[in-house]
Parts: sequence; C-alpha cells; structure tokens
Amino acid sequence: MRLLLVEDDRMIGDSLRGALRLEGYAVDWVRDAAAAQSTLASEQFDLVLLDLGLPASGAHGAETRATGGLDVLRAVRARHDATPVIVLTARDGPGDKVAGLDAGADDYLVKPFELDELAARIRAVLRRHSGRAQPALGFGGVTLDPATRQVSQGGVPVLLSAREFAVLEALMLRPGALLSRAQLEDRLYGWGEEIESNAVSVYIHQLRKKLGADFIQNIRGVGYFVGDKPKAT
Ligand code: CA
Repeated sequence: MRLLLVEDDRMIGDSLRGALRLEGYAVDWVRDAAAAQSTLASEQFDLVLLDLGLPASGAHGAETRATGGLDVLRAVRARHDATPVIVLTARDGPGDKVAGLDAGADDYLVKPFELDELAARIRAVLRRHSGRAQPALGFGGVTLDPATRQVSQGGVPVLLSAREFAVLEALMLRPGALLSRAQLEDRLYGWGEEIESNAVSVYIHQLRKKLGADFIQNIRGVGYFVGDKPKAT
C-alpha cells in the first residue's frame, strides 16, 4: 500500500512517516500544496493523508491562515480522482471538518491524535474504498487481516515478513487483477528507499514457498495475480 503524506511540519511528518512505514506502508512525503498537486497529478496512491493547514507553496512565511490543503483536495476531486483522502487538521472547529468532508475527504482526524486511531481509520477508509464489508481479505483458503497483520491458510497461521505481507495484500485486494513488477515495487517502497533489484521476485518466491506454488500466478514479463484469470485491462 502506497500512501502520500502531505504535511508541512517536519517533526510531525517525520514521525508519521516512520510510524506508517513500521505499519508496512510505503510512504511518500511532500511538504506543501504545490508539491502535493503535482505529485497527485502524476502518480497513483492508495490513500492520501492531507494536512489542511498547508502553505500554498514552499515559501516560508506564507503559512498564516493557509488553506492549501483544501485547494489540493478540491483539485483532486475536480479531475474525478477518487483516491481516498483523510484530512488531518490542527483546527477543531466544526467548519474545518465540514469543509474538508464537503470538499471530498473520506474522513478526518484532529491533531493531536493517537497513531493507533490513524492506523485504524486508514484501514477503514481503504476497506470502504475497495467495497468490502469484511475487515479481512480472504481468497482460496488464505485469510489476510490488515488490522492484526496476520495471515492464515486453512486456519493455520503463516508467518510473513512485512514486505511479503505487503506483496500478498496488494494481490489479494483484487483477485484476478494483474499487477506488474513496477506496480508491486510502488507499493513496497517510498521515495528515497533503495529498491533492491529483483526484490519482488524474491518476495514472490518466499510467498510461494509458504503458501504453495500455485497460490500466486504470473504471466511472464507482464505481472502477478491471485485467482483464476486476470481481468482484461
Ligand atoms: Ca500544517
């Protein structure tokens, strides 16, 4: 899962990025509205965490009464981009929450918040966005629970590394959908993290050893999938 964090406060941004990476997310971080706009216009994310009180550009001193976050959100929705957005705001006036939700946010959190609550809201928003009612993903006898990060097969727990879990989660979210190596790498690594060459093949190999050779299938040179047959794209 790849998240975009939009947060101008260095300390908050740094600690959020670190904590979310520990949760297994690939996290990219931008610090102003202009960078958020251009990143969101050119790259795909599973979810955006958007601070409302953002400077409109990287310029210092422009931060007072900044509403850059709402502008970012409106621009995303104006081009019919349905990427889930959770708004983070230091302001707790009902007006800010209403403005955020009405501008197209899926949820909001008022700072300061507990990391556990943020993580749970991210999972809930992702679940709703994928149209699932069930918290856990299940396919072909394998169950994956994004909240507890536990995987089982036929009721027997299967121990996975964080990256193996991330690969499996990406594939199990949409059985039958073909994911290329580059798409899987996107979900595994944020900016600035070094991508080991053939990392995806290594994780797939490990997953096949643990779940059986047939659970994850591939079309050579195209990508990987779970399920019967990739949907035509
Ligand atoms: Ca801010």
